[in-house]
Amino acid sequence: MTETADIVIVGSGIVGSSVAYHLTEQGCTNVLVIEREAHQGKGSTGKSMGGVRAQFSTPVNIQMSRYSIDFFSQFDEVIGHPADYRAHGYLFCATNERHLDYLKSNRERQAAMGVKNVELVSRDEIAKFVPQLRVDDIVGGTFCPTDGFVDPHSVMMGFMLKARERGVRLWLDTAVTGIEVEPANQTVLKDRPLRRITGLTTTRGNVSTPIVVNAAGPWAAEVARLAGTEVPVQPLRRQLVPTEPFDGLPQRFPMVIDMSTGFHFRREGKGILLAWNDPEETPGFKTETDPGFIEKILTRAAARVPRLAEAEVNPRRAWAGLYEMTPDHHAIIGAAPDVVGLYFVNGFSGHGVMHSPASGRITADLILQGHSNLIDTSQLNVERFASGRLLEETAVL
Ligand SMILES: Cc1cc2nc3c(=O)[nH]c(=O)nc-3n(C[C@H](O)[C@H](O)[C@H](O)COP(=O)(O)OP(=O)(O)OC[C@H]3O[C@@H](n4cnc5c(N)ncnc54)[C@H](O)[C@@H]3O)c2cc1C
Repeated sequence: MTETADIVIVGSGIVGSSVAYHLTEQGCTNVLVIEREAHQGKGSTGKSMGGVRAQFSTPVNIQMSRYSIDFFSQFDEVIGHPADYRAHGYLFCATNERHLDYLKSNRERQAAMGVKNVELVSRDEIAKFVPQLRVDDIVGGTFCPTDGFVDPHSVMMGFMLKARERGVRLWLDTAVTGIEVEPANQTVLKDRPLRRITGLTTTRGNVSTPIVVNAAGPWAAEVARLAGTEVPVQPLRRQLVPTEPFDGLPQRFPMVIDMSTGFHFRREGKGILLAWNDPEETPGFKTETDPGFIEKILTRAAARVPRLAEAEVNPRRAWAGLYEMTPDHHAIIGAAPDVVGLYFVNGFSGHGVMHSPASGRITADLILQGHSNLIDTSQLNVERFASGRLLEETAVL
């Protein structure tokens, strides 16, 4: 027998799980989530650093963060499951006036969007957060105390547990292998015939549904192609390096970002978690770690925090995952223009954990109400790439 659902979500990572939860918040529970792995969190979500911040440069990212951080601060009560939100802050450190001016103008934009707690900090104040930091070349920075970290796996599980409590079905170990469409009986759109969704084929059988949500993370372009359409999302490897237990830095300190190199770090349990965006990385489904990367990141770490040269690193504990990059480093949220019933919630470009509450809410709003009052959703639709209305987020870590 063919399964039926009002809405099918492809992918049960933090984003698909948030969409499922937010649909149930608005009374829609005949929802099926399909995940090809045997467990949730095997995609980007399980690899994430868990950072959340409102310190962005574009209004739409600031708005998404504002909603999401408020959400995380109440997550445990509302969802009945821990988010492990730790408001330890993000500390951006500038080593030249151009970067400092950039932080100052971002701060004004953040305040205009309602994020009024971003502080300008001096070199001496920065040194108080992490006395071991080399600050001789630092000219100042910004600190937001409500930025911090969550546990991505726990947030994902919380969203999904609550959604399932309300009737959402989750099929694990099931790959979506096809998306069925039929002509939508309307004239062509940009010389492509308009089609509508009728269902999907999966490794567990067929599903009849009028609505499919593409929440397939770095595999979003593949899932879009199953419906004969395109979404510009590319996988980009991202590697993280944890140190062994290290007490040469404070037990609690913010995420520290060295703007001169992009190197950033935070405490993770007894050790320190080191991160850096290697500009030489090229797109592709690469998830092995690269010993050359470890050398490069340790050089940058020791340059900013000389004590870190003493920290031990076991290369086997480093890991790599995939960022889901779009050409303008902003998410794509909204309906596909050429396939009625297909929705994208993709391409978070490294921010999908922190923006998962807002993106779930916006997607549910768009599907069930046709609009969202959280943001101006036209900014994030996929048509922006064809029409050249690109946004540019420069505060990508
Ligand atoms: C190393 C690293 C560090 C990061 N740090 C941060 C951070 O500090 N803060 C932050 O906000 N973000 C961070 N990110 C980004 C964040 O992890 C992602 O944006 C987010 O997890 C995306 O969630 P998702 O649910 O869309 O994708 P995923 O978690 O990848 O989930 C997609 C799911 O779709 C499933 N799927 C795909 N195709 C199919 C199919 N055909 N059929 C069925 N299922 C399918 C996959 O198996 C997968 O489980 C980081 C990412 C990495 C790799």
